[in-house]
Amino acid sequence: MTRRLLTRWDDDKPREECGVFGIFDNEEAAALTVLGLHALQHRGQEAAGVVTFDGKMFHSHRALGLVGDHFSSESVIAGLPGRAAIGHVRYSTAGAPLLRNVQPLFADFAFGGLALGHNGNLTNALTLRRQLVERGCLFQSTSDTEVIVHLIARSTQPTVVERLIDALRQVEGAYALVAMSGEALYGVRDPLGVRPLVLGDLDGSPILASETCALDIMGARFVRDVEPGELVILDADGVDSLKPFALLPRRFCIFEYVYFARPDSAVEGANIYEVRKRIGAELAKDQPAPADIVVPVPDSGVPAAIGYAQAANLPFELGLIRNHYVGRTFIEPSDRIRHLGVKLKHNANKGTVAGKRVVLVDDSIVRGTTSTKIVAMIRNAGAAEVHMRVASPPTTHSCFYGVDTPERSQLLAARNDLEAMARIIGVDSLAFLSLDGLYRAVGGAARDPVQPQYCDACFSGDYPTTLEDLGQGQDPNQLSLMLEDA
Ligand code: SF4
Repeated sequence: MTRRLLTRWDDDKPREECGVFGIFDNEEAAALTVLGLHALQHRGQEAAGVVTFDGKMFHSHRALGLVGDHFSSESVIAGLPGRAAIGHVRYSTAGAPLLRNVQPLFADFAFGGLALGHNGNLTNALTLRRQLVERGCLFQSTSDTEVIVHLIARSTQPTVVERLIDALRQVEGAYALVAMSGEALYGVRDPLGVRPLVLGDLDGSPILASETCALDIMGARFVRDVEPGELVILDADGVDSLKPFALLPRRFCIFEYVYFARPDSAVEGANIYEVRKRIGAELAKDQPAPADIVVPVPDSGVPAAIGYAQAANLPFELGLIRNHYVGRTFIEPSDRIRHLGVKLKHNANKGTVAGKRVVLVDDSIVRGTTSTKIVAMIRNAGAAEVHMRVASPPTTHSCFYGVDTPERSQLLAARNDLEAMARIIGVDSLAFLSLDGLYRAVGGAARDPVQPQYCDACFSGDYPTTLEDLGQGQDPNQLSLMLEDA
């Protein structure tokens, strides 16, 4: 019932996925994992969890809400003893936001305990789950991660590593996974490398993290990206690497560069802030606008707007001010208040935009509802013209790899041509960065249409895996609802 009263201010953005962290052989493993999760909070705000191992027993603390809400007290950290820990922040791309879905999941196997958390989405989870249920498996959560747990349990392989490999060979989709047994930590990236995972080091304690900002927060050293299809083992002997999966061409998520990753992270060797400025510069070259000032939609549009302004030689101005204290959700007592809600999060800066021709830069447009309200706000503040420039191509397809986008029918660009979109949003002109422009900004090489170098399916519809659940008429993003109904 409570969930019906909550609305998200960010529901016109693709929602973040999940973040994972793990550290081995450190006396402050739990506290450092909590720090790491703080740095990864942008990847999921619905729930957080930490599991530690003290040499004999596993300890777990999981909660719905932000990391700071549940992991700030000494007593919580004291209840998580041990020199090895993994942690997870979550947005529920599959599985409803229930405590039993909060990761890391933990299970007792024949070989001992194993905790497991992943970022991504399995595109054959429902198919596998049905097969497992037919064979007698009892599921306790609606999370697709539990499918991996059951596959590990049913594996006849002799070791933890071989069971993990056996399980992962049966799943499809995108995952960056951390797991912890009584002997070691394990980090795995799916063979396409859709989601990020890095290896770090803090004074000899190896670390796994979704992004490098989680290393920076504790002064840890970045060692390298975990390779697509690589399994790393962190144990008493150091860090070992296996490549147990069939080699596939890389398809890293290009949207990580556009929106998801934190600007101070380095992803696949590139600093996100610098990439976003390059994206903005490409946009200015591709799509110039007759304007006096460049205004970003804060916060995610800021780096691209800086790049745009520099390339177009126009002043960069904060014509929209964001209220950082609104929070992610707000009680929605009536339609009128909901309509006003966007003003709580953003307000036009009249003194800056009045009488000016504004080029408004945002990172992406999903439904277009927030853009419409922001444009109206800038016009009401007295702007002479509003030209919108979007630092990514039109979002025409849903993501099935761990990013919660609305179904296609709700995507503005899937239903309308450019002219219609401009009319709906209420701008004098609208333009998007081309897919080729995005490729130039992130990597230099032109997009190979036969074998694209990134996953760009939400812009192109070119999905890098088969979508087995979808092929059976089931949307993997709706998995939780179907599982709840089952
Ligand atoms: S569909 Fe889009 S958001 Fe999803 S993994 Fe591919 S590029 Fe990223």
